[in-house]
Amino acid sequence: MSNNTVNFKCHSCGHCCTDVVCLPTPWDVRRIEKMTGANPEDFLEFLEPDEIDGADMDDPTWLDVDGQPYMMALKRDEKTGCNFLDNSTNFCSIYEARPLLCRLYPFKLEEDENEKFKGFSLHEDVGCPKHQDGVYEFGPLYDLSMQDELNQEDYSELVEIFNAKRYENKEPFDFVTMFTSGLLNFDETVGADDESASV
Ligand code: SF4
Ligand code: SF4
Repeated sequence: MSNNTVNFKCHSCGHCCTDVVCLPTPWDVRRIEKMTGANPEDFLEFLEPDEIDGADMDDPTWLDVDGQPYMMALKRDEKTGCNFLDNSTNFCSIYEARPLLCRLYPFKLEEDENEKFKGFSLHEDVGCPKHQDGVYEFGPLYDLSMQDELNQEDYSELVEIFNAKRYENKEPFDFVTMFTSGLLNFDETVGADDESASV
């Protein structure tokens, strides 16, 4: 193994798609919408803090709707997991359009004491069995991580704008209407040809 790779292979156990809530960014939502033709109303839900295990209340992407926090998530079933999971095969049915978070799981970006990029490891605190009979190059994972970081920053800014709006009958889904209204340029979303990470 060279210094620029991390050993991992997904064995499609299904854990990350059944036991973990998937939190897409607006860019993920737009990509899913564009590539699959699915309506965001059919694949998104808005969760309250007690519906997310270990909810991080410092996350800047909590929507504020009349004082109630909501987090945008992919719809899921408590038993069968993400609605996009094909339970007969444990494969993602929107694989080419899946969120960046899904592509990056279970990789963890490592930095040195000067916050300089060191490489990738496998997260210790996740339920993935972390099979190591495959090889991933750092390069595509790094590009994906940087794209996700930018998307998360922009997501936070959009949420800030949404949260500052006060009007009657405000609903969590109004946030989706806001970012699908053509106000933002989504041309540079990650396409189907990136390095695949998870199922
Ligand atoms: S990889 Fe696909 S099935 Fe799994 S959580 Fe992501 S979108 Fe859902
Ligand atoms: S990425 Fe890990 S947890 Fe997710 S399906 Fe593959 S082996 Fe299972």
